[in-house]
Amino acid sequence: NRRIILGSRPSGMPTKENFQIVTEAIPEIKEGEILIQTIFLSVDPYMRGRMTGIKTYVDPFEVGKVLTGGVVGKIVESKHSNFQEGDIVEGQLDWADYSVSNGRHIRKVDPNLAPISTALGVIGMPGLTAYFGLLDIGKPKEGETVVISGAAGAVGMVVGQIAKLKGCHVVGIAGSQEKIAYLKEELGFDAVINYKTDQIKQALKTACPNGIDVYFDNVGGEISDLVMRFMNFHSRIVLCGDISQYNNEKIEYGPRFQSLLVTRSILMQGFIVSNYSKRFAEGYRDLAKWVSEGKLKYRETIIDGLENAPDAFIDLFYGKNIGKQLVRVSNE
Ligand code: NDP
Repeated sequence: NRRIILGSRPSGMPTKENFQIVTEAIPEIKEGEILIQTIFLSVDPYMRGRMTGIKTYVDPFEVGKVLTGGVVGKIVESKHSNFQEGDIVEGQLDWADYSVSNGRHIRKVDPNLAPISTALGVIGMPGLTAYFGLLDIGKPKEGETVVISGAAGAVGMVVGQIAKLKGCHVVGIAGSQEKIAYLKEELGFDAVINYKTDQIKQALKTACPNGIDVYFDNVGGEISDLVMRFMNFHSRIVLCGDISQYNNEKIEYGPRFQSLLVTRSILMQGFIVSNYSKRFAEGYRDLAKWVSEGKLKYRETIIDGLENAPDAFIDLFYGKNIGKQLVRVSNE
């Protein structure tokens, strides 16, 4: 059983040296436990925060201990009355070939509903993040303008498509021409801005002639400083994440836009998806329905091999993924 452990805490951009791979025997399970073979592993930006030794809303990873994250896997042995051998499940498990669980917070995945990888993406945590953040905090109304940063990522592309379903004018911000083309041509975004090559301020002005009613922010930093200048009276800013800051050793201070929030009566609210855990069933239901109806498309970037999980994680910070970044650890 190969396991990936935190070798050292990153300073700045994480590197492969921060990770180590160890091999141990496949664990034995006790009464009330299940043994899960990993099929897909999710790599997520928030894991960067856990690698820094500071407690936030989740405990930090410990140096020398196995990393954990979203996993879809198959039960290969069960001593738990609710689970059978062969069941496909999803949960927070080890970055390893095999994990042991007592079944708590383990969700069964229906392989007939959609490809099982979607349980880590569009019909999983990122999909729920998009769904509740946009609908509950952003509250987009038909005809309004919704701007999304990190628009070609796992969360961002779901946000944009739900906003389109709600009849909004949707503008995405992303970091490559391939991403821009995908969002416009495949997902029907009304406009997309390449923050690496376009003049962001001018491009926003052109793309949002009626100003911005909802800003769904995945990246923070300079991009957000510029977007916020175009926010309308009574607009909403949904703070989902600020990946542009995750590798900073020192906190960056941006322009002071509080006065804008005051004079334009803007609501700015952060959230974490687990705030909505009591309503997850509603989110899963709608997301699965939209996927099955072809109204919600998804894309995944899949890297093969557990040993390549650190690369897949580091790639997030170089924007190499389009849609959900996954690692395929074994075949279904
Ligand atoms: P993504 O699939 O969007 O992957 C990360 C993307 O971020 C990259 O592809 C890259 O795209 C972009 N990026 C990386 N570095 C920068 C940078 N310096 N400036 C601007 N963009 C950058 O990840 P997720 O969809 O999983 O997550 C998106 C955001 O949502 C993250 O901030 C994450 O932490 C947050 N999140 C929050 C949750 C919550 O509960 N609040 C839950 C899940 C995620 P590009 O090529 O466009 O640069």
